[in-house]
Amino acid sequence: MALIVQKYGGSSVADAESIKRVAKRVVDTRRAGHDVVVAVSAMGDTTDELLDLANEVAPIPAPRELDMLLSSGERISMALLAMAIHSMGFEARSFTGSQAGMITDSQHGAARIVDVTPVRLREALDEGAIVIVAGFQGFNRDTRDITTLGRGGSDTTAVALAAALGADVCEIYSDVDGIYTADPRVIPKAQKLDHVSTEEMLELAANGAKVLYIRAVEYARRHGVLIHARSTFSSAEGTYVLGEGMKNPREAEGAVMEEPIVAGVATDFSHAKITVAGVPDVPGKAAEIFKIVARSGANVDMIVQNVSATGRTDISFTVPKADAAAALKSLAAEQNEVGFQNLVHDDQIGKLSVVGAGMRTHSGVSATLFEALSAGGINIEMISTSEIRISVVLRGDDLAEAARTVHTAYGLDGDTDVTVHAGTGR
Ligand code: ASP
Ligand code: MG
Repeated sequence: MALIVQKYGGSSVADAESIKRVAKRVVDTRRAGHDVVVAVSAMGDTTDELLDLANEVAPIPAPRELDMLLSSGERISMALLAMAIHSMGFEARSFTGSQAGMITDSQHGAARIVDVTPVRLREALDEGAIVIVAGFQGFNRDTRDITTLGRGGSDTTAVALAAALGADVCEIYSDVDGIYTADPRVIPKAQKLDHVSTEEMLELAANGAKVLYIRAVEYARRHGVLIHARSTFSSAEGTYVLGEGMKNPREAEGAVMEEPIVAGVATDFSHAKITVAGVPDVPGKAAEIFKIVARSGANVDMIVQNVSATGRTDISFTVPKADAAAALKSLAAEQNEVGFQNLVHDDQIGKLSVVGAGMRTHSGVSATLFEALSAGGINIEMISTSEIRISVVLRGDDLAEAARTVHTAYGLDGDTDVTVHAGTGR
């Protein structure tokens, strides 16, 4: 008998029918003899709809009240799920984040979990109940207010519960059936991964893969939680996300796993490129520029600086598209102080990243990437690397074709096309 934490995303509890389907899955797990703790998201697009409502009554809703409002979405689904389970003849009890002991800092809208004290959950489990917890929310002890963890925060709730309760596995259910070598909507020959390491998953998520939230994976890595990402709509096994030294449960069952050098190819259209042209090539200019950009609140991803022949140089960097306007405005305001010649904004770029822990120990991984791109006649505008990732910035129009070529070059193509359900990973 195991303790299993299950998380169901918004698309899995979108209506009464879906909630009953989830109830059945939870009860099946209970029938198999396991203790079950469930974290739920708000039904369907509830969170977005509540946000729209808030914006209709106030241009800038008060953060405290916004959290009161948004946290109500998960209360609806938790209570309905408990009722659905009752009607199948099983005992279930729902808890809000604060009842569940989800203690956070006081940052409304982006609170971080600082402690989990699941006393009431333990009591309920000891009494034989299935435990249901509202995802995405917590409680701050100083302000005594309800907080939310940021969009997609229910993944983090589930992982934090799994850590605090010492669960055997944290199953994250959504409308996609695992982690793929690439986004199947871009690369139909993508294959489902049997497993991926937490560090690979973090790089994939940070570079455009949307199935799991970065914060949840970070939490899992820090606390040694085993994640199993799988689909609510099928009984197929999904993908295990393994922390350091963690044993793949399927290997324990006797399966032999080959370790690929490259785990996957991620694509990202969400960034824009800013070029600061004609910067005086003297010490301190990069510091000035990136201090200005940081003050604008923009989060810089890649940076390149060209060589200077003329005593002036160009510095290009990428930021999320949503941050570009603020960064440009701040830079323009200090053009004279910095002494650059002009600014260029380019939001037609795409980023392709190849991720794999095997890069540490294998040579030639980057050569394969560059050869594939060159054979496809695709121009590279920027390059950056980490220990287990190589990213290139390309024309946005080239990104899908480039990703397919590169996916093939690393031998990641499956035999058949994936049937893509309109999954969002939520
Ligand atoms: N309901 C919240 C959101 O839509 C939290 C979640 O789904 O994980 O962001
Ligand atoms: Mg949601």
